Amino acid sequence: MRVAPVVPAGRRRRYSRAGHPGSLALVPRLSEVIAALENLWPAERAESWDAVGTVVGDPDQQVTRVLFAVDPVREIVDEAVKLGADLLVTHHPLYLRGTTTVAASTFKGRVVHTLIKNDIALHVAHTNADTADPGVSDALAGALDLRVVRPLVPDPTDPEGRRGLGRVCELDHPLTVRELAARAAACLPATAQGIRVAGDPEATVRTVAVSGGSGDSLFDAVRAAGADAFLTADLRHHPASEAVAHSPLALLDAAHWATEWPWCELAAAQLDEISDRHGWDLRVHVSKTVTDPWTAHAASTTTDEPLGAPN
Ligand SMILES: [Zn+2]
Repeated sequence: MRVAPVVPAGRRRRYSRAGHPGSLALVPRLSEVIAALENLWPAERAESWDAVGTVVGDPDQQVTRVLFAVDPVREIVDEAVKLGADLLVTHHPLYLRGTTTVAASTFKGRVVHTLIKNDIALHVAHTNADTADPGVSDALAGALDLRVVRPLVPDPTDPEGRRGLGRVCELDHPLTVRELAARAAACLPATAQGIRVAGDPEATVRTVAVSGGSGDSLFDAVRAAGADAFLTADLRHHPASEAVAHSPLALLDAAHWATEWPWCELAAAQLDEISDRHGWDLRVHVSKTVTDPWTAHAASTTTDEPLGAPN
């Protein structure tokens, strides 16, 4: 049961829109919500090349609706406008490498203009959310109902060994690679790509490594963890080819967006819990818009015909 919040003197009060006439709730300022997000995903834990934190927003503006999404693209910003959101939190940065213009004639500049004109703040939690506890790969593992054992690449600054990149997971009941791929296809949001598999589809999987987003730099850690399979995204021909030649490791390649989207639900639940604790009048939403850039998939036509004479 939700406990009535203690309202500090001098704070603005208003009736909650949560359907409890008479209950008082606080409308937090952006700075307060950002402080809560920074506590979950401190900016200093982001990679040095990353661009995390608040991109757009007035610290004093009030926040009543928050939308979580993977990509800060036009469809998502339009959705935030339609929803009446005051804050959009995305996993991917808007400007990763800096810019010299936010002119509305560029698609990123148009995003900035739309956000500011509609009083919507934008905050980014990227590699600081990847390595968090819980983080992006915990959400990915959770979506497939996998039991997380430990980080794949532990963060050396975490004495408890819980933070880090990727996660090593155990299956309570062994599955074949084919069955695990089917589970990933069923449990992750639908995309045109679906799940690609490298390696023997009938091999048994007991230990699986997962990493939301691009994971082909993690093969050494995956092998060291003794994983039978690795679920990630953006696997390229040569690293994948070499990985399966090196050992019997099976690879499951999902759409990048699909591997990171479960984090939005996790993050929204975390902010909801914080909001309840503070007695904030905050509505937290997760975008279901698929922003994976790949929009269609044509399966190869099965044929027994030979491919033709080698040339
Ligand atoms: Zn990503």
